[in-house]
Amino acid sequence: MKTTHSNNDLLAAMQEAHAEFASCRDGKNASYIPALAEAPPENFGIAAVTVEGEEFAVGDAETPFAIESISKAFNLALAMDVHGPRELRAKIGAEATGEPFNSVIALELHHGKPLTPLVNAGAMAAVSLIPGEHGDEVWERIAGRLELFAGAPLSVNEEVYRSEAETNHHNKGIAWLLKSYGYLYNDPDTTVDLYTRMCSLNVTTKQLALMGASYARGGVNPVTGKRTVQKKCVPEILADMVMEGLYTEAGDWLYANGLPAKSGVGGGIVCVVPGRLALAAYSPPLDSAGNSVRAMRALTRIIRKLGLNPFAC
Ligand code: GLU
Repeated sequence: MKTTHSNNDLLAAMQEAHAEFASCRDGKNASYIPALAEAPPENFGIAAVTVEGEEFAVGDAETPFAIESISKAFNLALAMDVHGPRELRAKIGAEATGEPFNSVIALELHHGKPLTPLVNAGAMAAVSLIPGEHGDEVWERIAGRLELFAGAPLSVNEEVYRSEAETNHHNKGIAWLLKSYGYLYNDPDTTVDLYTRMCSLNVTTKQLALMGASYARGGVNPVTGKRTVQKKCVPEILADMVMEGLYTEAGDWLYANGLPAKSGVGGGIVCVVPGRLALAAYSPPLDSAGNSVRAMRALTRIIRKLGLNPFAC
């Protein structure tokens, strides 16, 4: 059933959700990347962009924060454009791991195959599949693609990058393990560095909503009018987001909302309503699975209020 909410309803639902959850004190900033622990926990923004390119924002929607894992859902567009969904499925996989985003056990259980491009292992495999003569050329491609989605230049949050680069021993271990199993397609150290830079890119909640809106519109950025990914790749990318977008809470999220979304430990979540709009929310405190508590609750409230769950027909 297609609900017909107006833009006034959308903005009202966003304002209500912001007012309701601004006082929520649940969750804790990610601390395994020390710089993320410093982000003001009260920051809270909500944004939406429709497929017509109309933009709506409430709260701290222009505050930059590290995109972290959400970048995986957009570098995936580049990897899929280059290699095609079938090859990517063979080289990375398209299943939920059922394990945390940095799980080594998930890899060992599947002979080193990452299963999904949306956990650390699969995202590093995707980064290693981006062509380029050297790291800088690969970086230009990755950053350029994310900027195409954001419709604006993006910069690396140097503090987060340094902090993560100094402490990402676990990700380095995963990269070398992938290499040993034949599922990493470039040099492990270069790959981890590129992956870490990608996760450290700053975005605002408004930019995140615009990034998602390209997926809502079949791969065309509704504000710039530029194509961000081949149309044929969009259903597969959204399917990956459904399967693994909210870590080990992907099932809970799907039960509640029935929509593809991707979360990051910087506190952002982007959610795509195909053919309609994208929603994004940001607030640093996370639950134990790694999802922003306020962002999850606010998005769930808006989706329910506007009847956007496609399964609830
Ligand atoms: N850069 C983070 C890591 O590799 C991303 C984690 C996330 O946002 O899920 O641990």
